[in-house]
Amino acid sequence: NAKKPGIEFCFYSAQMNQKLQERTKLEFELWMALEREEFFLEYQPIVDARTGRIAAVEALVRWMSPERGRVMPDAFIPLAESTGIILPLGEWVLKTACTKLRQWLDAGGLPLRMSVNISGCQFMRSELCRLVEEAAEQSGVDLALLELELTETCLIKDVEETATKLWRLKGLNVSIGIDDFGTGYSSLQYLKNFPIDHLKIDRAFIRNVCELPDERAIVDAIIGIAKAMELHVIAEGVETLEQAEYLRHRGCDELQGYYYHRPLSEERLLEVLREERER
Ligand code: C2E
Ligand code: CA
Ligand code: CA
Ligand code: CA
Repeated sequence: NAKKPGIEFCFYSAQMNQKLQERTKLEFELWMALEREEFFLEYQPIVDARTGRIAAVEALVRWMSPERGRVMPDAFIPLAESTGIILPLGEWVLKTACTKLRQWLDAGGLPLRMSVNISGCQFMRSELCRLVEEAAEQSGVDLALLELELTETCLIKDVEETATKLWRLKGLNVSIGIDDFGTGYSSLQYLKNFPIDHLKIDRAFIRNVCELPDERAIVDAIIGIAKAMELHVIAEGVETLEQAEYLRHRGCDELQGYYYHRPLSEERLLEVLREERER
């Protein structure tokens, strides 16, 4: 009996050790992946709630690992954030998204907005303004078509610094949106003080919007706040016609989700856009 804690300790520490090794291995692989250009983007359309037409796309990063196969962002973004890999990765995402958008427009595509996710630590640590300017210069894209999706948690860490940064970004003409709205430490105060253009309702609230009165109350409240403050409101994770209809009736401006389109490869997106233009 006296030995038991020791055995348990060995067991846990072996397990911890293994976890640490796995993290170190993954971190190394992520640096390699940057070097070998194994990351790629998919684009999920965001449609106008009234017309159902594509108004924007959100760039979503994936990793084609030679060892692990196709890896989704939830499996590597957290580690990329804690190790700083998110800085060069985020820069690559931003510049690639802008370059692609410019190429599509040059090829005769209709004006389309591009949404890019910005991690909290990327917002705090990098010189996002300089990066955005560089991306615009390199790609020649009109920054009025670029939207940055930030999360609430990253905005309220240092309110004054955040406000300064956001106003500088605003000066470049980019739009700023709050991603996963309602899931963070919501402080309605910042909505008033920051130059925010849109709110994106997290899919956790959309999932049961037609069944659960509580979820519906949250969604209605978010839409109400957005309307009162004249912000654009987008719902993500729309999977059914019923959800789409509900959100449209409530006055949601744009909808995104599997009901309309999954995240698409570049080729597939261009096909979908072409089909839509011919309709
Ligand atoms: P997010 O920004 O909330 O993006 C929406 C996620 O929901 C995407 O997952 C998308 O594929 C998924 N989704 C869209 N519509 C539906 C639907 O109807 N039903 C369901 N069940 N899911 C739907 P994904 O691509 O796995 O991305 C996960 C998260 O990874 C993103 O969440 C975002 O926080 C992060 N992420 C993705 N790309 C980037 C990036 O380039 N930079 C940063 N910093 N984060 C990224
Ligand atoms: Ca997002
Ligand atoms: Ca997110
Ligand atoms: Ca979300």
